[in-house]
Amino acid sequence: MTLFDSPAFEGHESINAFYDEATGLKTIIAVHSTARGPAAGGCRMWAYPTAEAAMEDAMRLSRAMSYKNAVADIDHGGGKAVIIGDSKTQKTPALFEAFGRAVDAVGGRYWTAEDVGVSPTDLQAARRTTRFVAGLDGHAAASGDPSPVTAEGVFRGVKLAVKRAYGGDLTGLTVAIQGVGHVGAFLAEKLHAAGAKLIITDVNQAALDEVAAKTGAKIVAPEAIFDAEAEVFAPCALGGAITLATLERLKGRVVAGGANNQLASAEAGEALFAKGMVYAPDYVINGGGIINVAGEIRALEADTAFDPAWVEGKLSRLMETLDEVFQRSLDEKRPTHEIAGEIARARIEAARR
Ligand code: NAD
Repeated sequence: MTLFDSPAFEGHESINAFYDEATGLKTIIAVHSTARGPAAGGCRMWAYPTAEAAMEDAMRLSRAMSYKNAVADIDHGGGKAVIIGDSKTQKTPALFEAFGRAVDAVGGRYWTAEDVGVSPTDLQAARRTTRFVAGLDGHAAASGDPSPVTAEGVFRGVKLAVKRAYGGDLTGLTVAIQGVGHVGAFLAEKLHAAGAKLIITDVNQAALDEVAAKTGAKIVAPEAIFDAEAEVFAPCALGGAITLATLERLKGRVVAGGANNQLASAEAGEALFAKGMVYAPDYVINGGGIINVAGEIRALEADTAFDPAWVEGKLSRLMETLDEVFQRSLDEKRPTHEIAGEIARARIEAARR
């Protein structure tokens, strides 16, 4: 298969590959669309087995950012950078300075930020060689950790989904959270404060103990989370939690959480819908983080301070979009992930025209 035939390619505007001999940097910056504005999406550092695998991942993630950014109604297209390497052993400030030069060479059509394997300290180094970096600490425009905003959006989205499925609020309902890292831990506290009971799992015992101490959550083994007696399943760990097999085991009628790429396949999405469950499409419910990043870019560009009120306005609007997705799914008898995809594509198309 050639680059242009790959399913992940789907209309990408450009794929940029950079090599820096001095530092050994190998990075791919995929720009799916700039129709709505400069592409925005994080940089992931991962020990990909081949350059092809890195390119596929960059394109898949970049296209997903186009959809997420369009649904969140921010003035950005979708893009993503990947650095090929082990983030535990191969990171140096010089490597990220070289990465900054690569971002700069894309000429402002791509803004980078944090993703798996990349920290604010790494971005600080990249910032020395390009201005197209968000997610920094210590300046007036800085947006800080996006996780609390992501979790706030997920919390509101869970409430909307519960209302659709059960007709009430969270009081007395149980939410099973898979993964209590940054997003999952903040989400757990919000759900607990709203009167929900919690069942949690993680592969990190310290994270589990901390959340359980704060919320009284019951801890279960990673594999047991799918069998939890819970009205809501909230995936907040890695992608692919919803397969045809795990779906069979869920006891509740809501799937709503912060993780990216929750559906392992399109069939899993269709099966969710066929079972009469309410699914909050991942890139809709978890858009709070990128809205926060967009708030920083906006402030950097205007040379002003970060404005939390702007972020709140966009987050509220995103939740209206999520509720619209639920309503259309009901009216048109179609899965929510299909409807969210249509909304995203229509917004990107409209901007293109
Ligand atoms: P994180 O790394 O802080 O948390 C993930 C947690 O999942 C960790 O505690 C990890 O130990 C746990 N985990 C890993 N494998 C597991 C398994 N098999 N079973 C149970 N737990 C497991 O990451 P995060 O920032 O909280 O992000 C969580 C998810 O949300 C990711 O999919 C991420 O892409 C997505 N997301 C995050 C943000 C954000 O603002 N941080 C925004 C949008 C989407």
